Amino acid sequence: MKLNNHLGGQWLQGAGEGLPLHDPVSGEELVRVSSEGLDLGAGLAFAREQGGSALRAMSYEQRASLLGRIAEVLGANREAYFDISLRNSGSTAADAGFDVDGAIFTLKTYARAGKALGAARHLKEGGRVALARTDVFQGQHFLSPLRGVAVFINAFNFPAWGLWEKAAPALLSGVPVLVKPATPTAWLTQRMVEDVVAAGILPPGAISIVCGAARDLLDHVDARDVVSFTGSADTAARIRNHPNVVAHSVRVNVEADSVNSAILGPDAVPGCAEFDLAVKEIVRELTIKSGQKCTAIRRIMAPKAAAPALADAVAAKLAGMIAGNPRSEGVRVGPLVSRAQQAAALEGLAKLKMDAAVVYGGNADFVPVDADPAVSAFVQPTLLFCDKGLDAEYVHDVEVFGPVATVLPYADIADAVDMARRGGGSLVASVYSADAAFLCELVPAIADLHGRVMVVDGVIGNQHTGHGNVMPTCLHGGPGRAGGGEELGGLRALAMYHRRHVVQGGPSLLDALSEGAADAALLGA
Ligand code: NAP
Repeated sequence: MKLNNHLGGQWLQGAGEGLPLHDPVSGEELVRVSSEGLDLGAGLAFAREQGGSALRAMSYEQRASLLGRIAEVLGANREAYFDISLRNSGSTAADAGFDVDGAIFTLKTYARAGKALGAARHLKEGGRVALARTDVFQGQHFLSPLRGVAVFINAFNFPAWGLWEKAAPALLSGVPVLVKPATPTAWLTQRMVEDVVAAGILPPGAISIVCGAARDLLDHVDARDVVSFTGSADTAARIRNHPNVVAHSVRVNVEADSVNSAILGPDAVPGCAEFDLAVKEIVRELTIKSGQKCTAIRRIMAPKAAAPALADAVAAKLAGMIAGNPRSEGVRVGPLVSRAQQAAALEGLAKLKMDAAVVYGGNADFVPVDADPAVSAFVQPTLLFCDKGLDAEYVHDVEVFGPVATVLPYADIADAVDMARRGGGSLVASVYSADAAFLCELVPAIADLHGRVMVVDGVIGNQHTGHGNVMPTCLHGGPGRAGGGEELGGLRALAMYHRRHVVQGGPSLLDALSEGAADAALLGA
């Protein structure tokens, strides 16, 4: 079966044989995708003209209610999505929930938050700016929705959340979306779009999907559009440097890879709550979605004295996490999404092993439960220990996109800070400590190179939202290596889908243009 694309308000089949999508446990071919022969330029034009104008004719409040209805449709089809996640991504129920329920939660959050913008259709920012000696000539800043398309080029690891965490703020802004999911797991994204289109919630052209290769998609974007990319740094560079993107100064947001850190404070010693919380979170991060999260913990900095005990405690818990076919009782860790990802992860692991000793796992020949290693895509959950600190050649650079992390002992705060910063820009660092002096030195010292810093102590306990869990109300994105992008953060995300401009003129004109505008300060509220 070849999946349909939705473009120009129609369901269209791509030409040719298409590219196969597989079950990463059995290797079985599931469906095919193709974008061959599609007129992507015409599809974008239709989205701008039909979808964009229909969405902009509505208020923020009306569009917020559309998001609520989308969430209802997705909720009603949740079981089908879990089944596709299992078959196409080898997801356990917990893994599928992370993606699918995360998507629904994000949509509901924006449906609620968007109501605050009421019946407005644009935003007024700040007060009048005095420009002349009298008040006959003034300035007023506004934010207006883009009149183009939000083009999403997404990664394979979040086929559900990856679409809706971007689509929710774009649609709320009044901007139509076109998603190009990553080929290996495009099925779930495609099925969700199919369900939402079938429910007739959105106007024609408000949502489009192209499955398969991006082909000439970027040749047709222009100054009105925004390209939001999630994936590897290499592809990000290609997209940023695409001649048409450069020529038209197309707005590009990049969420790329990241070697995120977990950092234990000097007080996080065996037997205390902060140590136990760190162990629990590290194991969770290693195993949920089999480590295929951009936010997953890759490096663990621990004080020299506590580092061996930490490694032992994590290893002991990993030993109880059974990796294998998620259809089998007791399995907690599924496969990677494809043989290609398995090969890439094993290649990266081989590099890390040049810097680090294996504490647990790391066996390329391990046998998963109820799966044939010859056809499946498993990587054994692995913990490494590296005592080379900043001299390590690979640990601070290589993101193994799988269930692999490395413990790095540190000598003092400066050492921990230097190692966290050595990641070159990360999405997140989590810190386990109740030592106020340590935290007040460490957090500001790493903040400029991290999009999010999560600090956990014994008082917060299990009430924290998780190292790798992206909350729609908080910023997601990171500088440098992490891509330099910004997503979510509540209504702040709407800024990417609006253009700031200032109008200079007389007060009565500025009054008229301000009529009905919502206060842009609400974006940061
Ligand atoms: P990828 O290989 O870079 O692919 C990402 C997307 O780009 C896919 O849809 C891919 O399509 C498309 N693509 C590839 N070449 C392209 C080109 N020349 N022009 C336009 N589109 C192109 O990344 P991936 O392997 O799917 O994802 C894994 C990476 O994503 C990891 O490094 C991870 O850290 C990162 N990630 C980051 C975040 C975040 O929020 N920061 C979230 C998730 C993942 P095809 O699949 O059809 O090739």
